[in-house]
Amino acid sequence: MIIPSGFRRLILSEKIDETICCPHCNSTYGARIEVSRMHFHVFWIPTLAYRKRLRIYCIECQKKIKLKTLRDSQQIPILNLRSKARGPWWQFTGSFILLGLTAIILVFMNLGETATAVELSYEDPNVGDRLIYKVSEGKYSSYLVEGIESDTLKLRRNLISSDKKYYINDLLEGEKLDSIIVKLSLKDLKQLREEGIFYASRP
Ligand SMILES: [Zn+2]
Repeated sequence: MIIPSGFRRLILSEKIDETICCPHCNSTYGARIEVSRMHFHVFWIPTLAYRKRLRIYCIECQKKIKLKTLRDSQQIPILNLRSKARGPWWQFTGSFILLGLTAIILVFMNLGETATAVELSYEDPNVGDRLIYKVSEGKYSSYLVEGIESDTLKLRRNLISSDKKYYINDLLEGEKLDSIIVKLSLKDLKQLREEGIFYASRP
């Protein structure tokens, strides 16, 4: 697939200086001064802009005139024209779009983790499930469901904690299990869940 892309030059500012005499053809019609900025476009969307460029050329023969060959009194207004010329923000449109898309993707990635955390059914827990619980305000840890006996879960506490409840992978990557096995009935689990102390996770 060919992606339509390329460069485009945008004139930011221009004027004619009639006092400039062309060194190539000696024309006295003056010179055109042009400040421009080039941008790169992808799918016709301007994405990256380059530095401003100054161009001085003879109106008559179109040849380039060097800034340094001009008198100081002619150079100063030209340099001012260049520094005052502002490139429009839209020359970066593509960059803004890319930033926006990246932000949206990041938000959806986090939503994905949220969805995993609420998937687990408390009526049907499995060995290997993790129960996320609130240790204290803004601090979360997990329990591993190590065994199930009728309506009682055998749990082992993770000694690692995280400050984000949905970042289950942070907890599981560094998971360090306590040697003590805790028993918890499904009824109590339901209660703790309603109180907002337990969340569920199925890795
Ligand atoms: Zn000329």
